[in-house]
Amino acid sequence: MLFGAPGSGKGTAGKIVAEQLHLPHISTGDLLRAHVAAGDEVGEKIRHLMGAGRFVADELVNRIFLDRTAEADCVNGFILDGYPRTIAQAQVLVSELAARRVTPVVIHLQVDYNKITARMAGRRTCAKCGAVYNVESRPPKVDGKCDLDGTDLVVREDDQEEVVSARLASYDRVTRPLVDYFRTAVSRLHSVDGNNAGPLELAERIRELVGKA
Ligand SMILES: [Zn+2]
Repeated sequence: MLFGAPGSGKGTAGKIVAEQLHLPHISTGDLLRAHVAAGDEVGEKIRHLMGAGRFVADELVNRIFLDRTAEADCVNGFILDGYPRTIAQAQVLVSELAARRVTPVVIHLQVDYNKITARMAGRRTCAKCGAVYNVESRPPKVDGKCDLDGTDLVVREDDQEEVVSARLASYDRVTRPLVDYFRTAVSRLHSVDGNNAGPLELAERIRELVGKA
């Protein structure tokens, strides 16, 4: 289980680790979107809730994840990214994993909020092809233009400072308390400092920790 603030880099690192270890990478966003795209019963519920600007309830999220992790490709393990997000979700997951005799490894990716805010503020996205740049760490060849198609780069709504601040505040309130919960509920909780590490380095750290069974 990978958890960390939005913008901590856990999504990118998680995907790399999953690929290297040949394990499914299961993220909340992808899983919810897949149900919506499939148009199944659960997907219809999610579409309805999100359309109304409401959160998907813990109970439904739990059901989706417990079903997904019971599929055949998860028999050797899986990487959870963005779930559990609340203590209520974590309690259900931890007890279910215990019942399945699965020992979770929880990795808390720590990045300072001012660093996250600065990273997000520098992000620029191509309005046409979706390529992502960063004015500090990955600038385009021509200022403000996409390398691939020359289209103007824009700041996505998700990357705008007030949106980033709101997401960090929500993480702080709802998800960060999970660290204390995991400290008593699981035997393997690790913190990884993500302040100065790129995605590949983070992936390597995570892989080492997951390997120490
Ligand atoms: Zn482009």
